[in-house]
Amino acid sequence: MPLNQHYDVVIIGAGPAGTACALALQGSGLRVALVDRKQFPRDKICGDAIPSPALKAIRQLSQAWYDELFELTTKAETRNSRLVAPNGTEIVVQWKARTFNSPRLHFDQHLLSMVKRHTKTEVLENFGVKRLEISAQQATVFPSAQAAPLTAALVIGCDGANSVVARQLTNRTLDRTRQCAAVRAYFTGLSESDEQTSEFFFLDEYRSGYFWIFPVGQGVFNVGFGMLSAQIAARKLDLKQVLRHLTQTHPRLATRFAQAKQLSDIQGFGLPLGGVQRPISGARFLLAGDAAALIDPLQGHGIDKAVQSGILAAQQAVRCFQTHDFSAAQLFEYDRQVQTHIGKKLARSYHLMHFLSAKAWLVNGAFRFGRHPLIKNLLLKAVG
Ligand SMILES: Cc1cc2nc3c(=O)[nH]c(=O)nc-3n(C[C@H](O)[C@H](O)[C@H](O)COP(=O)(O)OP(=O)(O)OC[C@H]3O[C@@H](n4cnc5c(N)ncnc54)[C@H](O)[C@@H]3O)c2cc1C
Repeated sequence: MPLNQHYDVVIIGAGPAGTACALALQGSGLRVALVDRKQFPRDKICGDAIPSPALKAIRQLSQAWYDELFELTTKAETRNSRLVAPNGTEIVVQWKARTFNSPRLHFDQHLLSMVKRHTKTEVLENFGVKRLEISAQQATVFPSAQAAPLTAALVIGCDGANSVVARQLTNRTLDRTRQCAAVRAYFTGLSESDEQTSEFFFLDEYRSGYFWIFPVGQGVFNVGFGMLSAQIAARKLDLKQVLRHLTQTHPRLATRFAQAKQLSDIQGFGLPLGGVQRPISGARFLLAGDAAALIDPLQGHGIDKAVQSGILAAQQAVRCFQTHDFSAAQLFEYDRQVQTHIGKKLARSYHLMHFLSAKAWLVNGAFRFGRHPLIKNLLLKAVG
């Protein structure tokens, strides 16, 4: 571990936001460190559906990097989404954009290996950040283990849903009306499933969320369930029990799981939803991805917003070095960019999620008339 290393930019967290940020800084001439508290490959609890806008954003950086993403071997290239309404009506949507599902253990490792191969970023694994100090001259990043602190002109917090950077440098508090929780486990041996179709089940008894079955390659399926934290708390639900109960007793699911083998424990994690404008920058720092709370409230997708905001953060970093200005006023331009390119759509999704979760009849009706272009568009938005 280097002693008192100084960097132009320290990116904290090597998930999709942090790795996309490091890739986007390639060629900037800046001295960049990317630190993560874990040693990769590391797992991240997720549905493992990689939304096509995440891949498109990488393609805008480099066609070769985009092609390289598809070289990942542990994945299922998905072509269809099957949506099942509370009353059992279903529609199948075929996607034009190329995309895939891949366990985050492999996907995130692949992204990090691209950073290591294609950029001069110094990657420091097993480097957990405990606290930060911001002064007029620099940001100081203190590790949790006995290692020397790092200093930087700019810190980019890409450290996920429980971000230390967001907690310390903004006045973020938990708002359960803008937070989801979800659980997932891996299964094999499901009946009536194929490797090209992601399935979404909307359930009468659990509104403002859905149950999913996503193929992730090699006959393995990511099976999960998530819903709004406010409703989980109000109903005192144990999501692990709900997932078990649904796979064992739900009329449309139980037979499909009868011969299935569960490959992992059921694990859960939080999803900070976007849709309201929060401060995501200040003097000498920026937040991206889940640290900036940018998950789509309707779909629960956040990998695409993580990649997109990581790239916007890199562009802001370059602007700061061009102007030698790291003030809160200069960095607020990043908030504006995120709001324009990501935030407005998230606000629409949030309102739509609330509207639909209060009206199960409308969801059922939407599926019945699912072939109508307007309704189909609404359903497409619901699953990305
Ligand atoms: C159950 C579940 C299902 C989901 N399904 C999907 C899905 O199918 N598709 C989708 O698009 N999105 C999904 N999401 C959301 C998605 O997982 C996140 O939006 C995405 O991972 C955000 O990426 P990120 O880079 O911001 O953060 P993360 O992927 O969480 O990465 C943060 C990184 O920071 C590191 N870190 C954390 N704290 C520190 C610290 N103190 N010091 C140093 N490093 C630190 C972590 O080790 C981690 O590597 C799901 C979420 C959940 C919980």
